[in-house]
Amino acid sequence: MIRFTNTLSRQVEEFKPEGDTVTMYVCGVTPYDASHIGHAMSYVVFDNVKRYLMWKGFAVKHVQNFTDIDDRIIERANRLKMTTDELVEKYINMYCDDMRDLNIIPPDVYPYATREVPEMIEIISGLIEKGYAYEAPSHLSEWSDVYYRVSAKKDYGKLSHRTQDSLMAGARVESGEEKETPADFALWKGAKKDEPSWDSPWGKGRPGWHIECSAMSLKYLGERIDIHGGGEDLIFPHHENEIAQTEAYSGAVPFVRYWLHNAWVKMGDEKMSKSLGNFITIRDGLNKVGGDGLRLWVMTSHYRKPLSFSEATLEAAKNGADRLRTAARTPSEPGDGGIDLNTFRERFAAAMDDDLNTPQALAVLFDLAKEINRCRDEGKGVAGAQAFLLEIAGVLGLKLEEGGAAIEAAPFVDLLVQIRTELRAAKQFALSDRIRDGLAGLSITLEDGPQGTTWKQD
Ligand SMILES: [Zn+2]
Repeated sequence: MIRFTNTLSRQVEEFKPEGDTVTMYVCGVTPYDASHIGHAMSYVVFDNVKRYLMWKGFAVKHVQNFTDIDDRIIERANRLKMTTDELVEKYINMYCDDMRDLNIIPPDVYPYATREVPEMIEIISGLIEKGYAYEAPSHLSEWSDVYYRVSAKKDYGKLSHRTQDSLMAGARVESGEEKETPADFALWKGAKKDEPSWDSPWGKGRPGWHIECSAMSLKYLGERIDIHGGGEDLIFPHHENEIAQTEAYSGAVPFVRYWLHNAWVKMGDEKMSKSLGNFITIRDGLNKVGGDGLRLWVMTSHYRKPLSFSEATLEAAKNGADRLRTAARTPSEPGDGGIDLNTFRERFAAAMDDDLNTPQALAVLFDLAKEINRCRDEGKGVAGAQAFLLEIAGVLGLKLEEGGAAIEAAPFVDLLVQIRTELRAAKQFALSDRIRDGLAGLSITLEDGPQGTTWKQD
């Protein structure tokens, strides 16, 4: 019996999907910059949810969006003198490379918000017709905004466990907005000068962020879905607003049966975030400890507890992955060494059933690795036990493959990159280009950016 903590009820609940296929929607990235390891945590957690459900025999349909239109995208594209499309493509490619190297199973559908605008317009029109939304003039645009009327949905606040009164007290109106009440939120924003925009019944404009996820989950997964996931910072307002929009539009309640939220990665006492500038990119993490190392690091903490970053814990995770790899891959004769694999299977499943308790699941893997090593040292064949270790490691997305050559070489690549930077500063371009080309020949690509040079192995 699988149990998850449901943010909606604040209870640990038995998981029972509605149909034959588990439907799962996870909020995706806004591709305006490289993703950091805080984002990696969320995608690893929901990949584990999916892998575990599949291991238990469920079919899973997973949809995850790209928020490819956003104030930050427009601002950054303008600053870098690129089109928003060019900027988005660059960072989506980078994100997909990161996910591949983290061994994340790609979603079944990866919709782009900008390609679903007609669907969003249809929902917004429907909400206006039903009295849940209203058009209002904007002082920042020659066209109108559309807002959601929070007071029309009596159970608004049920996910974040806030009352409408407290929301009214906390909200404020930005200058230029003509909301009926401060807690109302934008479904559609009238276009400002020189912004990407779409035609709509309210003139030129673009959708708000929250309506994207409502439109894409409705289109690809239907009115009611089993699991909706994301970081806990999305509970309010994003997910609260998604519920309000989708339930008001479709009439099907609840829109989501299990709301799962992961805690965030901390740097010291603060949340790791772009805006605070205290982040480590996924690529840096991958170059340091590899995909298995980074995944294992995320799993050392329960997904609902904050994960503290330090070089030491990251290094320990890499060593842990190496230990598992050695136990699983050292050649051995057939046999299970007399190890009771069923007990390990039961312990692993019990840990994962218990709200995805990955620290305990990892402990089972390490205990099994120890047993395998002991039995092999005693001259027993353990190939069967090794295959089982690889199977349950795979449920956690660990590949334990041989050949972490790029990782072993990472300090040397870093050194070459540093020397190249110094050569470029001294205008020794012939030599610096030779380093870049030589590394390219070894499938290592350098990328020069405003914060220096980064590298990745293809
Ligand atoms: Zn979302």
